[in-house]
Amino acid sequence: MQNLLNFTYEELEGFIISIGEAKFRAKQIFAPMHKGISPDSLTNLSSKTKEKIFANAKYSLPKIRRKLVSALDGTVKYLFELDDGNCVESVVMKYEHGTTICISSQIGCRMGCAFCASTIGGKVRDLEPCELLGQIIAAQNDIGERIDGIVMMGIGEPLDNYDNVIKFLRLVGHKEGLNIGYRHISLSTCGLVDKIYRLAEEDLQITLSISLHAASDEIRNKIMPVNKKWGVDELLDACKHYFDKTGRRISFEYTLIAGENDSEAEALALAKKLNSKLRTKNSTMPIHVNLIPVNPVKERDFKKSGKDEIKRFAKTLESKGIRATVRRTLGADINASCGQLRRDEMKKEEANSNA
Ligand code: SAH
Repeated sequence: MQNLLNFTYEELEGFIISIGEAKFRAKQIFAPMHKGISPDSLTNLSSKTKEKIFANAKYSLPKIRRKLVSALDGTVKYLFELDDGNCVESVVMKYEHGTTICISSQIGCRMGCAFCASTIGGKVRDLEPCELLGQIIAAQNDIGERIDGIVMMGIGEPLDNYDNVIKFLRLVGHKEGLNIGYRHISLSTCGLVDKIYRLAEEDLQITLSISLHAASDEIRNKIMPVNKKWGVDELLDACKHYFDKTGRRISFEYTLIAGENDSEAEALALAKKLNSKLRTKNSTMPIHVNLIPVNPVKERDFKKSGKDEIKRFAKTLESKGIRATVRRTLGADINASCGQLRRDEMKKEEANSNA
């Protein structure tokens, strides 16, 4: 049965008319639904109207299966259970300038990045728009305050679930809905080049974040299989196009893995690559690199770079005119990076079913 939260405003009007109700009912239910209130509990709808709605559709939000709160900084991590029993993770982070949620875009992932926990069991399925929205609505209801920003950096590759993600982005920015400003939304991708070109045409003022993690094809091929399809040069060409078309700056994520991609030579190669591909005569694209010490994953053999290596890497980039910041770690005590809580839960289920 269709979830009411999958409908655009216009689709909801069409649905309401199709069940023989007046069009204005759509306006009555759209805003409350997006704030977490089921049409079932609205007093301005007759029970007959409600019956007709729920004979043809459902309203459901992800359920909190586990919740961890960081004692260090208040970061909240949720393991949400969806209608079909699958689980995804979301993390709510409080910053001085507002509250941001990191949401998942797929159940599992098929991109195969070597250092990432989300990809270990492959992709199970894409998330629907209602499940993307649902993570925000359910978290907002639970913390009791407004969420002002979204990062699509949880489990999954958002551009591998393109149509649902675009529909979700249009819904989440709707004036009658959650109304989150596009400038407060960022989407992170491992580099699906064809989709970056498509995204540039959508006229959405979101920030694009590129998981680069290496400047040379040799190293990137080793840790990110997607690079075998689109190499570093093709990816950066797409980034330049995205910036030229939208005027939105792009940030680059660079996970530092000891002995793999953290050498002085790699920092120089990265600066050279970014400068030569993105800073041409007629483009002044601001470049910002986020350095993230790799979060060791139990199933993987990667180790964090040392503090000195990280500092040196950042300094080398800065010396070549590339802004670099070392990402502050939030929720360090609750294992807040995505993919690991779902892995733990899946392992528990396996153990139970084998017992
Ligand atoms: N698929 C998207 C979004 C999800 S991953 C993407 O690749 O961008 C979000 C970010 O976390 C990416 O930059 C990813 O490379 C990074 N990441 C994944 N596993 C990590 C780990 N173990 N340590 C540090 N960063 C990691």
